[in-house]
Amino acid sequence: MSLRSGLKDIKRVVFKVGTSSITYPNGKLNINKIDLLIRVISDLKNRGLEVTLVSSGAIGVDVGKLGFAERPHYMPSKQAAAAVGQCELMYLYDKLFSEYGHTTAQVLLTKDAVDIAERRENAKNILHRLLELGAVPIVNENDAVATEEIEFGDNDTLSAYVAVLANAQLLVILSDIEGLFDKDPHKNSDARLIGEVDEITPEIRSLAGGAGSRQGSGGMITKLDAAQIAAEENIKTIVCSSSDPRKIYDIFDEENIGTIFGGKL
Ligand code: GLU
Repeated sequence: MSLRSGLKDIKRVVFKVGTSSITYPNGKLNINKIDLLIRVISDLKNRGLEVTLVSSGAIGVDVGKLGFAERPHYMPSKQAAAAVGQCELMYLYDKLFSEYGHTTAQVLLTKDAVDIAERRENAKNILHRLLELGAVPIVNENDAVATEEIEFGDNDTLSAYVAVLANAQLLVILSDIEGLFDKDPHKNSDARLIGEVDEITPEIRSLAGGAGSRQGSGGMITKLDAAQIAAEENIKTIVCSSSDPRKIYDIFDEENIGTIFGGKL
């Protein structure tokens, strides 16, 4: 049976968008793309889906506002950029979701929300309560205070933990990568997209290579890690392109889009 069967009946889903999916190469927000994405997500909510959005972009967005020429590396500058960028992100998300009649809530997590039992319970409770109340939790790492010891590092991993905490049935990682290919698609024009992965074997891992983008921090490897974390809790993961957010509907029509990873890998 295809891993896609049953996606029509999904009730709770987590979407993850990466920095490069919501910004132009110059770091500015791609407002048209974000608008389309929020429109589709709002419409899916109207259909009855409970949605959580994990969004990157806090550090990458408009670093120019603080006078940085590029995404900063010095930790305190990175924290400052995140504090400013997170406001900008949430302002836009809140404005757009409100236009479509939905309520947003900001949830910022650090890794102790996974590592420390009490914090984990708190994180779980807030996500569940917000979803019960019909809000859209918008989650990011709390980059303004996350120092190296307590950081997730990339939002692919964070999104998998959020899917687990929220008891989601599906994690959708929207990316500038179309999914997992049998060869590096940047170097091989005959590279074929792998539609379904039942098990993340060492061979599958070797296909993930190091492909990643300049703005975010994850490549395909971190997406496989996320799929593995989700699968251990019986949550399916789809990695697909964010280029046309309207394609998200195809996921719930059980059409072949991106790569799907099964639960219990
Ligand atoms: N939390 C980071 C941000 O919002 C992104 C991490 C990542 O690129 O995955 O900028």
